[in-house]
Amino acid sequence: MFDALSERLESAWKKLRGQDRISHANIQEALKEVRRALLEADVNLQVIKDFIAQVETKAQGAEVIAGVRPDQQFIKIVYDELAVVMGETNAPLAHSATAPTIVLMAGLQGTGKTTAAAKLALHLRKENRSAMLVATDVYRPAAIDQLVTLGKQIEVPVFELGSDADPVEIARQGVERAKAEGIDTVIIDTAGRLQIDRDMMAELARIKQTVQPHEVLLVVDAMTGQEAANLTRTFHEQIGITGAILTKMDGDTRGGAALSVRQISGQPIKFIGTGEKVDALQPFYPDRLAQRILG
Ligand code: GDP
Repeated sequence: MFDALSERLESAWKKLRGQDRISHANIQEALKEVRRALLEADVNLQVIKDFIAQVETKAQGAEVIAGVRPDQQFIKIVYDELAVVMGETNAPLAHSATAPTIVLMAGLQGTGKTTAAAKLALHLRKENRSAMLVATDVYRPAAIDQLVTLGKQIEVPVFELGSDADPVEIARQGVERAKAEGIDTVIIDTAGRLQIDRDMMAELARIKQTVQPHEVLLVVDAMTGQEAANLTRTFHEQIGITGAILTKMDGDTRGGAALSVRQISGQPIKFIGTGEKVDALQPFYPDRLAQRILG
């Protein structure tokens, strides 16, 4: 379905054969191919522009290495830069010195937020840390049931006060309960809407203000593509995120949303969701995704 960047670049370079160094013309031609690859990976346009400018600076300043083909050298610059932009190493979940660590989940409805909350709880359990889930999505009664069911499945307690209670109060009491029970990490699932709206953001801001979380994780559907940029900007400006979980990476996407999320918020992708099952969560590795985005 996609051409790998190395193949694209090979043909770009063929046109310029006979040159043994990275010239300005080579770079411009090659950058066009990088741009095309990123567009196919559904990276946001402005994000692509910024990234291309960074690569251009690096490539122009690069010394030609003896014995290394300039096109290979260029490809390495692109991959390395992409991995750098996405965070280089895997960023672990914050862990507070005094329990409980408080994690607030944020994101639009349908992105996989509730599933991701349960996945995270299971991930913590596997690390021998206790977890508690808190259900504050009172607008969709099914959301509370969904979390309770998931909690049972992974043997993690779920704190809920039904759908008549105030979400901010549920979050506050949930954290208190976790504290009283000596729980290591409390994960607060919040309401999502199909579109970002003012009430939703205001409520999320109030929950954040009240519980003072150590992590605010934005859950982003990898299939969202270009829209991931706007989504990240809005949540980061209005709430302030500390990281993201990219879901549905098992789907037919190159995962360009990751680049947008990172470039716009400056915050790391911490995990990726790779399926509907509750154990389908993996740490995020920037170098692996660089490979996937560029092919
Ligand atoms: P929420 O509205 O954001 O809380 O979303 P849910 O957690 O209810 O998930 C919405 C749908 O996406 C459900 O059908 C999930 O099974 C599915 N889902 C969640 N995460 C993933 C994932 O990583 N991969 C796939 N393929 N489906 C997922």
